[in-house]
Amino acid sequence: MRLGRAPSGKPPRLCALLLALLLALLLALLLALLLALPGCAPAQPLERTFFAMDTVMTLRLYQGGDGSLLDRAEARVRELEAQWSVTEENSEICALNRGGRAELSPETAELLGAALDMCRRTDGALDISTYPVLRAWGFTTGEYSVPGGEAIAALLPLVDYGRVALEAGAAALPPGMEIDLGSVAKGYTGDALAALLKQGGADSALLDLGGNIQAVGSKPDGSPWRVAIRDPAGDGNIGVVEVADQAVVTSGGYERYFEEDGVRYWHIIDPATGWPARSGLASVTVVGESGLLCDGLSTALFVMGREGALEHWRQHRDFEAVLVSEDGSVTITAGLEERFTPADPARPLTVAQP
Ligand code: ADP
Ligand code: MG
Repeated sequence: MRLGRAPSGKPPRLCALLLALLLALLLALLLALLLALPGCAPAQPLERTFFAMDTVMTLRLYQGGDGSLLDRAEARVRELEAQWSVTEENSEICALNRGGRAELSPETAELLGAALDMCRRTDGALDISTYPVLRAWGFTTGEYSVPGGEAIAALLPLVDYGRVALEAGAAALPPGMEIDLGSVAKGYTGDALAALLKQGGADSALLDLGGNIQAVGSKPDGSPWRVAIRDPAGDGNIGVVEVADQAVVTSGGYERYFEEDGVRYWHIIDPATGWPARSGLASVTVVGESGLLCDGLSTALFVMGREGALEHWRQHRDFEAVLVSEDGSVTITAGLEERFTPADPARPLTVAQP
């Protein structure tokens, strides 16, 4: 009986053991799945929103670093703004505009030098000395009005970046001339913040400096950031561009404008005419490694128009672009072909070749 029972009692014990093992395995699997899940869903970033440089900025830190890093980033923005603001009396740029001459901090001298390089590179489509004309239109104060042809003609001789002198940490301007670094300041700031965050241990962050997007690394799961490009003619997006460690900067006629007698006048000025640039483009988005380059180019390519912009791309090839024309058609440069997903496949899309 005992002998007989022994063999018959063994299988159930084995079964229970196997069952327990299976259960443990299942539990482990479930636990692993649960632990993996937060990795799939977008992680909750540390977030900071504030108003600076005349725009709303949002910094999102997804991986590495902590809240004190965001404190330092915000402080850095305010420090740069204090140096460059055209409206803050104590800024270095204000001092230069007021006195016609000023000593510059190394950083302001660096930005001014880089801005002048961009003016030369774009053959004056970007011109930091457009400021007196911008003021005549009211874009500096918000008191908009269409200046008379004579008023613009009188101001145009003051628009000439070639007469800005920069030497040994000091700058000088001819009488009446004034400069404004607004077309490149946010780009430079994006580069500076990306460097600061990386030094502080961040390896995944997305910075939105009022339309200037600066990607630090990629998403926490290693995939690229997906940055939406706004439809200049509506509330939606025209598509999404995938980036890692790059800037995505858009300039458009819809950003800041006023209307008079049914005509829309926007804040991007053609330095050659003193009038808002009407080149057939509704917006320009520039994608590249340097935020400063992308920022300056988004403004300059908008002035150049589609053909001029593509010509500039063919000559330099150190950036990519998404051009939205006023008729709603979209042109992307070849380097974005695999990285741009249109929101509406029916919208006409051209891929420009080198
Ligand atoms: P935003 O700073 O509004 O995002 P942009 O980067 O295109 O837009 O910069 C436009 C700003 O640069 C304007 O607000 C104006 O101060 C200035 N600006 C306008 N036209 C020019 C130009 N052709 N060259 C240099 N600066 C310009
Ligand atoms: Mg710009």
